[in-house]
Amino acid sequence: MELNLADTKKWMNLFVEEVEKNKSNLNELDTAIGDGDHGTNMDRGMQAITAALEKKEPSDLAELYKTVAFAMIQKIGGASGPLYGTAFLDMSKKAKETADLTELIQVGTDGLKRRGQSDVGMKTMIDVWQPVATALKDNKFNQQAVDEALESTKDMVATKGRASYLEEKSRGHLDPGSQSSAYLFGALIKVIGV
Ligand code: ADP
Ligand code: MG
Ligand code: MG
Repeated sequence: MELNLADTKKWMNLFVEEVEKNKSNLNELDTAIGDGDHGTNMDRGMQAITAALEKKEPSDLAELYKTVAFAMIQKIGGASGPLYGTAFLDMSKKAKETADLTELIQVGTDGLKRRGQSDVGMKTMIDVWQPVATALKDNKFNQQAVDEALESTKDMVATKGRASYLEEKSRGHLDPGSQSSAYLFGALIKVIGV
């Protein structure tokens, strides 16, 4: 499925809204297994995305994803900033060839894996991104698929990022980056209506 520039803009604006609305939830999740700043970090990035998009209207998909990527890299900070930034930057490069969501999300996921030296099952945002990419491929992308992916992180033991310091104690909590990613893909579902 292809997503045009106008709908991708809607997606990004809805993502910003969702994160801003749920900032304290993200901080709470990160307090349980990290340092409590994931909501604050993401919120800074969301404000930067809004400001950048207001300053200059992107003329194509590649430029839009690049604007989002730079705002995230510059303002989120922490582990998640460079990770989200890499995913969106790789999506920007790919968007020069295709507007196909399945391909774009898979490329973004591959960027996360490369940048984070991580893969599925490590209790990171990849545990939402990869199932979403796969669901898109299989025509099974919907809110239930996103919710299930997010929930699956609860029982995992973290082996990457701050939560990995807790070892077995990281089990029983949702991964904060997976929750913010679930907001990202929940916003996408609202735009495409699946
Ligand atoms: P920090 O841990 O530096 O405070 P954040 O709290 O903003 O950064 O982000 C934490 C999230 O980043 C985690 O919940 C996880 O989803 C993600 N993350 C951390 N390390 C990695 C990694 N190596 N690969 C993929 N995702 C990661
Ligand atoms: Mg944190
Ligand atoms: Mg931190």
